[in-house]
Amino acid sequence: MIGIINGEVYDPQNGINGQVRDIWIEDGKTVSGESVDRAGAEIIDASGLVVMPGGVDIHSHIVGAKVNAGRKFRPEDHRDHVRSRTAVTRSGSGYTVPSTFLTGYGYAEMGYTTVMEAATAPLVARHTHEELEDTPMLDKGAFITMGNNHFIMKCIRDGQREKARHYVAWLLGATKGYAIKIVNPGGVENWKWGQNVGELDDEVIGFGVTPRQIITTLAWINDELGLPHLPHIHGINLGQSGNARTTVETIEALEGRRAHFCHLQFLSYGGEPGKRVRSGAAELARAVNEHPNITVDVGQVIFGEATTMTSDGPLQYRLHRLTGNKWLNDDVEGETGGGVVPIQYKRSNPINAVQWLIGLELFLLIDDPWRVFLTTDHPNAGPFFCYPQVIKLLMDRDYRAEMLQGINRRARRSALLAELDREYSLYEIAIVTRAGTARSLGLQNKGHLGVGADADVTIYSKLDDKEAMFAKPHMVLKDGQIVVRDGRIVREHQGRTLYVAPPYDPGIEADLRTHFEECYTISFDNYPVAPEYLSRSEVIPCA
Ligand SMILES: [Zn+2]
Repeated sequence: MIGIINGEVYDPQNGINGQVRDIWIEDGKTVSGESVDRAGAEIIDASGLVVMPGGVDIHSHIVGAKVNAGRKFRPEDHRDHVRSRTAVTRSGSGYTVPSTFLTGYGYAEMGYTTVMEAATAPLVARHTHEELEDTPMLDKGAFITMGNNHFIMKCIRDGQREKARHYVAWLLGATKGYAIKIVNPGGVENWKWGQNVGELDDEVIGFGVTPRQIITTLAWINDELGLPHLPHIHGINLGQSGNARTTVETIEALEGRRAHFCHLQFLSYGGEPGKRVRSGAAELARAVNEHPNITVDVGQVIFGEATTMTSDGPLQYRLHRLTGNKWLNDDVEGETGGGVVPIQYKRSNPINAVQWLIGLELFLLIDDPWRVFLTTDHPNAGPFFCYPQVIKLLMDRDYRAEMLQGINRRARRSALLAELDREYSLYEIAIVTRAGTARSLGLQNKGHLGVGADADVTIYSKLDDKEAMFAKPHMVLKDGQIVVRDGRIVREHQGRTLYVAPPYDPGIEADLRTHFEECYTISFDNYPVAPEYLSRSEVIPCA
């Protein structure tokens, strides 16, 4: 039994906004203060400290084929960033693409206790789970890329939506995945023919289906299966001038079905295709405000080193041509594509400066904090451990104004950001970093401190400098155990892998067996990841 007493609690899911409350914990769960036997309890005095649920990251790239390709591809990212082992932690290295141990430690030391890996090709899910197993401290899950999946596109072409539904259910269970991920639907398949898609009604080569059909079918399937999260969408034309229009069209194409749009910053570019990038944040914020069925995360650019990595193969080729930086293409066999390109975001660069502005403008123009979440699309727009810097930018308009002065002059001159006075409160920060993300993910035991929640708790010192405050929590508890003190790991902890297992018609397996014999280099029986593969796991129920 642990009691965290007299803390200033921010628990938006339960409407608690800085009131002094006691939190009681037993067997890894929060329990009611009325029923506890306080004698013998370990008491943590949180007087003058801020208490929040553990952070929940809805979109990050921490494990799996392309992350590991990024590690191998960037020895320079490891050379000067080494952490030695201690009595309780293992060693590791890496800055933008840290090794598995450092990833777990880094998140925990920042007060995060749950992280979702945002893209895994089904074929390589086993590798993803091996690395998730190797990532300490966190509960975690993996989104499964399906936006260019041959079996699904064939079902759509043949008008067999029910069959596609059973397939998706089977696939999520077989890969021990958490959610449907869609990346540049149809575009990654066309990339295998040296092409891409640019409009929602463009044709996917060899299938005769369209990005619109892929998105709407998967959104329908998501609802039919009652999956806890929403279809998680990285739309078409990412990173291109003028993509704000196609992103708004994609939101409208859903016709009210629920969906999550990830790293919206990369999809909110105004201007004309092929011309200078302008901020389309106002247009996108309006669309999000008008569509309560949509949640988004931002993908805020951080000035400095980053490593872009995505299933969007054609985008990576374009970025390589634009920057001249080295380029890796992979996962082409894995029912999707993938690529890695290192990048450095510079304040003086007009494009990077506009990208930085767009992220902050989205945060400040989207009205409802329950529908806009903090991410850097780690490590695409910047490393996850820079989240405290973003929190400071959101909470402190003087700091924002100071940063604004330092960016490219042309970008600054037309910046809408200069006019935005809004400052996030601690309550709103608790929403965009844990309560809102947990709700969008459908994780009922996370992101809050009510009775029955997982006892993942972060205690912060209350500092004026919000970056310092959020970078180094006073204490972090995972499953009711103290794992971090004064921003350092004091105990290693193995979290759980969260996945879904929706029911499906077993009759589909005969078709799948034939499909595997015709198309795959791996046999049908060897494809699924067995439950025994995961040492600690939890099946999150479907509605
Ligand atoms: Zn991403």
